[in-house]
Amino acid sequence: MKFGGTSLGKPHRMQEVANLITRDEEHKIVVLSALSGTTNALVEISESLASTDRSLAKQQIEALHTHYQNFVLELLSEEGSRKKATEILAEHFEFLTIILKISFSQALNRDILAQGELLSTKLFSIYLEELKVGHILLPALDFMTIDSNDEPQVGTIKVKLAQLLNKNKGTIIFITQGYISRNAKGEVDNLKRGGSDYSASLIAAAINATVCEIWTDIDGMHNNDPRVVEKTKAIEQLSFEEAAELAYFGAKILHPASIWPAQFFNVPVRLLNTLQPEAKGTLITEKAGSVGVKAVAAKDGITAIKIKSSRMLLAYGFLRKVFEVFEKHRTSIDMITTSEVAVSITIDDDVHLPEILKELEAFGTVEIDTNHTIVSIVGNEIAMTKDVMKKIFDALEPIPVRMVSYGGSRHNVSLLIARADKEVTLKLLNKGLFNL
Ligand code: ADP
Ligand code: ASP
Ligand code: MG
Repeated sequence: MKFGGTSLGKPHRMQEVANLITRDEEHKIVVLSALSGTTNALVEISESLASTDRSLAKQQIEALHTHYQNFVLELLSEEGSRKKATEILAEHFEFLTIILKISFSQALNRDILAQGELLSTKLFSIYLEELKVGHILLPALDFMTIDSNDEPQVGTIKVKLAQLLNKNKGTIIFITQGYISRNAKGEVDNLKRGGSDYSASLIAAAINATVCEIWTDIDGMHNNDPRVVEKTKAIEQLSFEEAAELAYFGAKILHPASIWPAQFFNVPVRLLNTLQPEAKGTLITEKAGSVGVKAVAAKDGITAIKIKSSRMLLAYGFLRKVFEVFEKHRTSIDMITTSEVAVSITIDDDVHLPEILKELEAFGTVEIDTNHTIVSIVGNEIAMTKDVMKKIFDALEPIPVRMVSYGGSRHNVSLLIARADKEVTLKLLNKGLFNL
């Protein structure tokens, strides 16, 4: 059972989480994110430190400390547990204060980012003790490992976790941190923003869980982005493939990589709402449930790169050379379309863009379009469903579409549009495809 920041951000919400995990006697691992707002606050602290604005960092640390002191007073009622929690806060905020005096590095940044999950799990554990709920706190840093390519090491995680669970055989409830991990150098690292979903899925896969429950603030995967479109509805059932495409192409409810471990080890995933625990939510399994369009998602921050070259005409090996440039700079490609003399590619990470462009210029004329959005229309056998393309293009008549990707998978049609057109595109598709 994984609980996101919004399910923990207020003391009464954390109390509700305690109710949810003690409703039955089933053995469970409870994965917690940081309280909502904490990881963002830690990112800001790190940024202040990186820009050597220590007095701003100090203010930000103090504000966060006060927030947690108030949280503890509201969450806990016994003197003993309040004292324990205050000591935990003192320990973590002392660490944050010490960093004000040492020089900033990426390793330190990751240590700072880990504080949120360490705090939420320790405070929750004290709260459970106050309620006399038996449990064990498993440190994620003792089993969640990633390799030098930042890929989780499922085999190692499985072995380490099994050892830890074996040591505590009679225990029914285990609590652990989402998001944080240890990297190949043994340093504290993380699974990227929103990574607690990924932790939960990796853990569920590693222990061959009966189900992986992702508890959040909405009743499952909706057919469109509820932050943008007014009328959206929850989807009852999705296949792993459909859910993976939606997560990868921007449905924030799931971390982009969070589906593959569950899919690979065939563990069903349920998306559930802590605010409405009885709602059905979304079930994600091997089966898709139905054929046709299920949902639309959007991913921002996309850069399109076009390489035009007459040398591409009838040449073989051209694409390999282009792809090698991206491989060399460890930048993954999302969309690709080709004509006989040009190829367009999109990336979502432009850290290495200057080097990439420099190398691509050797192959022809290179143009870039920044600030674009990929809109993905996802559904089982969508490519084979009658009228889907017609409906999409009818709906999007007023929108200039920069790229179209169709047929790459049977479950996805992707369009590249300007970021400025995203809101209206999602709304038009909601009407055209779902009549909402
Ligand atoms: P948590 O803190 O539980 O991890 P997140 O904020 O990461 O929660 O994810 C839940 C949010 O994802 C929802 O509140 C909703 O605004 C957003 N969201 C974006 N797209 C979708 C979608 N297609 N279906 C459901 N929620 C979505
Ligand atoms: N706390 C982390 C974040 O805000 C991980 C998560 O919420 O899943 O990104
Ligand atoms: Mg999340």
